[in-house]
Formats: sequence, structure tokens, C-alpha cells
Amino acid sequence: MAVSRRDVDVAGLVDRARGGEPRAVARLISLVENDSPVLREVAAALAPHGGHAQVVGLTGSPGVGKSTSTSALVTALRAADKRVGVLAVDPSSPFSGGALLGDRVRMQDHATDDGVFIRSMASRGQLGGLSAAVPQALRVLDATGCDVVLVETVGVGQAEVEIASLADTTLLVVAPGFGDGIQAAKAGIIEIADIFVVNKADRDGADQVVRDLRYMQSLGGKHSTAGAWRPPIVKTVAARAEGVDDVIAAIEKHRGWMEEHGELDRRRRIRAAAEIEAIALGTVRQKFAEVHGSTALDTAAGRVVAGSTDPYTAAEELVASL
Ligand code: GDP
Repeated sequence: MAVSRRDVDVAGLVDRARGGEPRAVARLISLVENDSPVLREVAAALAPHGGHAQVVGLTGSPGVGKSTSTSALVTALRAADKRVGVLAVDPSSPFSGGALLGDRVRMQDHATDDGVFIRSMASRGQLGGLSAAVPQALRVLDATGCDVVLVETVGVGQAEVEIASLADTTLLVVAPGFGDGIQAAKAGIIEIADIFVVNKADRDGADQVVRDLRYMQSLGGKHSTAGAWRPPIVKTVAARAEGVDDVIAAIEKHRGWMEEHGELDRRRRIRAAAEIEAIALGTVRQKFAEVHGSTALDTAAGRVVAGSTDPYTAAEELVASL
């Protein structure tokens, strides 16, 4: 989308968004999502205001009740007067902002509430990973006053691990009848969960799922070392909002534990480092594309072919010249 720098009053937008105007928040997210020329200006304007929101990721197989749980969590958080952001992310789809996801997220109840901001992002990044727009959208929601941002994944597999890397606290939602325990263990998802939510506790088999999870926890892993956070297992019936307060209590407890142990800072540093690295590599890649086909690269290639230099030295010289 061609947005010229002059068309956007970034400072005004940020002020309005921070004042609670949902349209201004939406506009800021669109700007970061579309890699607008004002992206850097937006990022700089938001930077001093970040770090407040707790980012909570919800992952789990399709059908376990993530969407229903997200909606129930929003209701409970609103009752506690928290400002809430919801990002529904489908990293398996190249399409973004679509109505498909918007419909899927069971958020009609919250549509008229100015204290809730809901956005679907279905973007997969050019390099196969999660789109760089997702962390930037999180920064927008954080800096514009959300107390909690719920990130719900729609995809499966690797996407869940990627979402976990964006969250302060990761909820793994499982339900009876999904063979989830075993699947999750295979995918390494057990390791990334900070809280296990056994949803559909009104169904037969929920207690067995709890036992399976306990058994898997007893086998060890990073959570079994002394002083480590031991992920609680919380049963819910999201469809009837049962157990949701226990989930919120667990989320708060996890935040307290992270703060006490320096873990929140550690996770955020890892995330920021990954973000910086991705942006830096993107810049290098772009600069490289500019020299590609240029005489500098061609000359270097000729020297490597002639044996007067080696590819490592040539690459080093080229990177230094970027
Ligand atoms: P998602 O794909 O993980 O987001 O799952 P959804 O939230 O779309 O829920 C899948 C289905 O399970 C829907 O038909 C929900 O109404 C139903 N569901 C959600 N929570 C519960 C629950 O606690 N008990 C029962 N029995 N059904 C539920």
C-alpha cells in the first residue's frame, strides 16, 4: 500500500490510540502490518510506552476450545476492568485481516466494548516464519494501554512454538478426545506450556487428560529442576465460563513468579534480540539485493572463479562494503 510519509500524523495517531480510540489503534496496526514507510516513525513513537501488557499466548489443536476460552477470558478480564487486546493469528495462511478469522473468533459479545481490541492476522512472513508484523502489532497493543494481550493461534504445529516465543505466558489448551497429550509431547509443546488448560471438563475423559499431563510432567523436563515454575493444570468448561477465574489466577501467579525470578525480563530480552536480528538481517538482505547484479558482486565472483580469492574472503569484503 502506498502511503506517503506526509499523509500520516503519527504523533497524533499515537496520542489518540493511547487515549483509547480503537480506530487509531487499528490504523497503527495496519501501518505496521503493511510495512508502511512510516513504520519506523510509529515504532519510535511507541517505544517509550511499552512493557506494561502481559502477553498471553493460547495454543492447542483446532477444536479444543481456544476461541471459546479467549472470549471467556476477555469477559473475565473486562469484569476486572482490564483493557484487553486479542490477536488471532493464523500463520499457515498468507492472507491477513480477513473476515474469515474475524468470524471465527467468538467475539461478538465484545464488539461494542471500547476496552477490547480484536484483530486477526493471518500472515506468514516471506521467509516462512511468523510475519514480522505480529511482534509489531503486539507492540502497538502494549503501548496503547492494553493490560493483557491474548494471542490465539489458529494454525497447528510449529506455529504454536513460534507463538510461544512471542508470549510472556503460554497456555496450552487441551481437551478430552483429541489425543492431545501425546501429540503435544511429540511436538515439544509440553516444554513451552506455562499453564495447562484442560477444557471441556464437562466431558468424559477430562480427568484422564489431567492424569496424562501429570504423568508427563513427572517424567522430567526443564520444569522439574529445583526452583523452576511447575505449570499448573487447570480444568475449565469454557463454553460455560467455568474455571476461567482459575486460569486468570494462574496467569497472574505466573507473572508474579516471572518477575520474582527475572524471567519476564529474560523472555523479553530474547524476544527483542530476535526482533532486532530479523530486522538487521532483513536490511542486509535488502542491501545485498541492491548490489546483486552489480559490478562489485560480479568482480568478486570472477576473482573466486579465477582462484585469486576464496568465497569467504569475498563475502566478508562484500558485507563490509554494504
Ligand atoms: P478452537 O478451534 O480451539 O478455537 O475451538 P472452539 O473455541 O472453536 O471450540 C470448538 C467447539 O467446542 C465449539 O463447538 C465449542 O462450542 C465447543 N466447546 C468449547 N468449550 C467447550 C466446553 O467447555 N465444553 C464443551 N462440551 N464444548 C466446548
